[in-house]
Amino acid sequence: MKAFLQALALATSLLFTADLQAEIKIAALHPLLADLAEQIGGENVSIVNLLKPGAEVHHFEPTSKDLASLKGVTLVLASGKGAESYLGKLADSLGSGVKVVEVGQTIPSIKTSNGHVDPHWWHSPDHMKRALRVISDELSGLDPAHAELYKTNATAAAQRLDTLKSWAIQQLATIPKADRTIVSAHNAFGYFCKAFGFRSIPLLGLQSEDETTPKQIAEAIAAIRELKVRAVFPEDQANPKVLAEITRETGAKIGRPLVADGTAMDAHTFEKMLRHNVAALVEGLR
Ligand SMILES: [Zn+2]
Repeated sequence: MKAFLQALALATSLLFTADLQAEIKIAALHPLLADLAEQIGGENVSIVNLLKPGAEVHHFEPTSKDLASLKGVTLVLASGKGAESYLGKLADSLGSGVKVVEVGQTIPSIKTSNGHVDPHWWHSPDHMKRALRVISDELSGLDPAHAELYKTNATAAAQRLDTLKSWAIQQLATIPKADRTIVSAHNAFGYFCKAFGFRSIPLLGLQSEDETTPKQIAEAIAAIRELKVRAVFPEDQANPKVLAEITRETGAKIGRPLVADGTAMDAHTFEKMLRHNVAALVEGLR
């Protein structure tokens, strides 16, 4: 009898503990957001990664299996700025019980010459800090019991970003000012260029499959010659033939591929992406 009561007490306490540690379940539509949410939420938050590392940001569409994996999710973190073309449909299918937050929404947008909003806000450490605040506030709203913890974790993550930013600035300072030009495949580095004082010459549009016009190529070649650009950069998911053509025409070399959309298999956290890109730029342009 005593053993039975002890077992019962243990079972009850286990149940009670399990209840206290109940996780909140959220989903991230970008691996970089999942990483931030994990840094803030730790063990209290379980995260469904809808867009997996290696996936292509601009053409992703959730499958019915993806949608089924969202069962029990109360919050969905999206990049926003139009990065998720399927977002409206997804929000409709999830219904009003699930909050969909566009994390990049309040970050000032860069627009292309034809007025399109550039969705690649994730290349700036300051933008990532803003994203930390947005995610921390959302998690605290869902789970007020752990609000202090989320705030502390977000502050620690922001400090790591400050350290990372200082490192990046120091590294990039080794590239002479006149050589700070990024010739990339698609138009993904506008926010990076703004954050770190670079010029951007993209060969493709905001999405990696956009066509390059002969006029664009001619302009890029002229700019590369004039600015004496030493290296042009393919991307982890795009290596257009036009890059080879440009190197033949200009004598610029081909640099190491840059991580453009934050979904590279070996660099899908902001820290890894930034460290990779800064190292590749320094190597190619210094
Ligand atoms: Zn992109």
